[in-house]
Amino acid sequence: MMELREIASDVYACLQEDRGLGTSNSGLVNRAGGLVVDTFWDLPHTRQMIETYARVWRLPARRVVNTHHNGDHCWGNQLLPGAEIIGHRLCAASFGKERPDFMQMLRNGGGSEDPMLREMARQLAAWDFAGITLTPPTTLIEDRLELDLDGIAVHLIYVGPAHTAGDVIVHLPAARVVFTGDVLFRLCTPVGWEGTYARWIAALDEIVALDPAVVVPGHGPLSGVEGPREMQAYLRYVRAEAKRGFDAGLPALEAARRIDLGPYAGWTEPERILFQVERAYRELRGEPYDAPIDVTALFRGMHALRESRRAVA
Ligand SMILES: [Zn+2]
Repeated sequence: MMELREIASDVYACLQEDRGLGTSNSGLVNRAGGLVVDTFWDLPHTRQMIETYARVWRLPARRVVNTHHNGDHCWGNQLLPGAEIIGHRLCAASFGKERPDFMQMLRNGGGSEDPMLREMARQLAAWDFAGITLTPPTTLIEDRLELDLDGIAVHLIYVGPAHTAGDVIVHLPAARVVFTGDVLFRLCTPVGWEGTYARWIAALDEIVALDPAVVVPGHGPLSGVEGPREMQAYLRYVRAEAKRGFDAGLPALEAARRIDLGPYAGWTEPERILFQVERAYRELRGEPYDAPIDVTALFRGMHALRESRRAVA
């Protein structure tokens, strides 16, 4: 299910219904040949996105902006051939950290005996990572890039390392729209890779300071400035709770298990809190923002959190 929303004159969002892992959002500025903000995780979903935009554009877009390097925002890039692909230098540098063939293997792993892998395969069943050719940005941003699309100013602003090292947001000052990429997850629990709490919280402040009327998150429904404010409160809360666990000598998984989700209990994928607890622990241990993350251990931990919640329910 994809929904096309006109959020300002010639400005659209293509929203995927939140079905968990990978259901990201995209944007279109339908001027000067068109600029697409993020493609989707696989080719079938990106084709559907292009068909959705085809209801309003005349020709497929001349420009693509990737807000960051996670596959659910850029693995469909190849379906806009000839487009100029724009992203942060560190987004381009991280292309290939995630591999389509590996994701396809996980997706096809349903026959495995391992309950975590079986669940992973279930979560990935709606996706098909076949045929993806990684197509990274070639126009690289350092701090900022300003475009004029036939009279619509589009500002690409680097705000990382927050969700990843190369986070870029897309600001349309006249329309008062911000496409945040995964700097904002709305009503779903954020995942975070390379970055720091301080930078992420500051990036959310920067979004609020732009005074947008419409904020298009990387995942979840549209919001106003209450979206970034709520997520900022979540990050501050989890960091403080994680520190209590750290000071008490608890392993990160146990600290995550003990955190009362309070007002955030209704957000989807609550077990992703482990990502933020692990980040807090890395910071409290004094590790660098891009310290390697044991992704397999994280997903095993989240699986354990889900199971223990199920047992309680
Ligand atoms: Zn994402």
